[in-house]
Amino acid sequence: MALVVMKFGGSSVADADKIKYVAGKIVAKSKAGNKVVVVVSAPGDTTDNLLEMAGKITSNPPSREMDMLLSTGEMISISLLAMAIDSVGSRVISMTGPQAGISADADHTRAKIKKINQKKVKDQLAKNNIVIVAGFQALNPNGDITTLGRGGSDLTAVALAAALEADSCEIYSDVEGVYTTDPRIVKDARKIDCVSYDEMLEMAGSGAQVLQSRSVEVAKKFGVEIHSRSTFNENQGTIITSEEKIRRKQMEDLLISGITFDKNQVKFTIIDLPDLPGVAAKIFGRLAEIGVNVDMIIQSAAVDKKNDISFTVSKQNMKKTQVELDRTIPEFKATSTSVICDEHIAKVSIIGIGMKSNPGVAAQMFEVLYKKGINIEMISTSEIKISCIVDEVDIVKAVEELHKSFGLSKKNQENLL
Ligand code: ADP
Ligand code: ASP
Ligand code: MG
Repeated sequence: MALVVMKFGGSSVADADKIKYVAGKIVAKSKAGNKVVVVVSAPGDTTDNLLEMAGKITSNPPSREMDMLLSTGEMISISLLAMAIDSVGSRVISMTGPQAGISADADHTRAKIKKINQKKVKDQLAKNNIVIVAGFQALNPNGDITTLGRGGSDLTAVALAAALEADSCEIYSDVEGVYTTDPRIVKDARKIDCVSYDEMLEMAGSGAQVLQSRSVEVAKKFGVEIHSRSTFNENQGTIITSEEKIRRKQMEDLLISGITFDKNQVKFTIIDLPDLPGVAAKIFGRLAEIGVNVDMIIQSAAVDKKNDISFTVSKQNMKKTQVELDRTIPEFKATSTSVICDEHIAKVSIIGIGMKSNPGVAAQMFEVLYKKGINIEMISTSEIKISCIVDEVDIVKAVEELHKSFGLSKKNQENLL
C-alpha cells in the first residue's frame, strides 16, 4: 500500500463546490488502495484578507498575534474538507500543524520546521483515516503557534513527505505544473516535464510562485520528488527531481528552462559613501539584524575616496530599510551622503542548468533587452541564473521577448518534434 501526500493550494479550496470536488479526488486516491495524507492551504484569498484586516488595526502588529491570526485560515480548510470527506462516508480526521507533531523554531511569521513527530500522523493512518493536516503552521518551543512564511503549505507537504517516507508528494494547484514562465502573463508559456531541484530553487526564489523556495530546499535535502500538477484534471504535471535523474532522461541540456519576474522589489542607492573598510559590513549587518533580506547589491568603483552602493529589498521591507538607513548613514559623518529609493523597478531572471556549459547566454539576454530599448539597472548572476533589474513598465515586454528569444514558446517545441 503506497503512502501519498497530496497538497491543495488556496485556489483549489476557494469555495464549497471546490472543497467537495477536492474531497472526491482524495477519496478516489484512498479507494485506489493508498494511505493518504492531505495538506491544505487557507481558502482563496483568506490569508491576504487577514493581513489586510490586521493592517487596518495597527501598522505594527506583534508577530505572535499575527501568527495566531494567520493560522486560522488553514483551520477553515481542514475542518470543511474533513466534513466533505466524512459526508461521502470515508474515514477522516483533521489535524492542526501542532496536532500533527510539526515543531518549528521561535521565528514568528517565518519559522523553520525543526522536527516532525511522525507517530501522530502514522497512528491516524493505522486507524484507516485519511489525515488532513493544516499547512503553513507549527508549534514553537514556547508552545505557541507559528507560521512558515508565505506559501508555507508547500513546505508542510514536503516536510511531511520526507518524515513519513511517503511514496509520492503531489502538489496540486490551478496550473498544470511548472511552466517556462508565468502562464498568466505569457499565453505561449509551456509546461516543463522535469526540472531539477536547483533550477526550481532559482525559479521559486526569483518570482515563480508555483512552489515555495524553502519547500524545494527541503525536497532537495531529503530527496523528495515533487509532482506539481493541476487540481482540475488528471494530466501529468512537472516532476521536480535531482539533476542526475533528469540527465539520464535528457541527452542535451536545454539552454534555458524558465524565465521569472519579480515586481515586489525596491532599489535603494546610497550616494557618496566614504570608501573605507567596514562601511558595507555596518550597513548590511544592521539590515540583517532587523530581519531585512537583501537581494542584489552593486558597489561602484571608488572615485575621490567615495563610492555608491545600490541594493534591492522586498517592498514589504521598504519602510524598515529606510528607517534603518536614516539611523546608520549619519554615523559615517560624510555630509554629502544621501539615499535614493526607487519603487518602480522589477527583476527579470533567466534560469537553466544548460548555462553551465554554454558561454554567451548573458550576452544574448542583454542583446534582447537592448534591442527592445530596455535599460538594465543592475545585474547579478549565479551558476544557473542571470537576473537584471529593469524599469517596472518594461517587465512584461522583457519576459515575453526573452521567452521568445530562448526558444521556450509552444511553437518552438512543436518545431523540435
Ligand atoms: P496555490 O494557491 O495552489 O498554492 P499559487 O497561487 O501559490 O497556488 O501558485 C500557482 C500560481 O503560480 C499560478 O496561478 C501561476 O500564475 C503562478 N506562476 C508563476 N510563475 C509560474 C510558473 N513558472 N509556472 C507555473 N505557475 C507559475
Ligand atoms: N495560506 C498561506 C499563504 O497564503 C500558506 C499557503 O497558501 O501555502 O501564504
Ligand atoms: Mg502557493
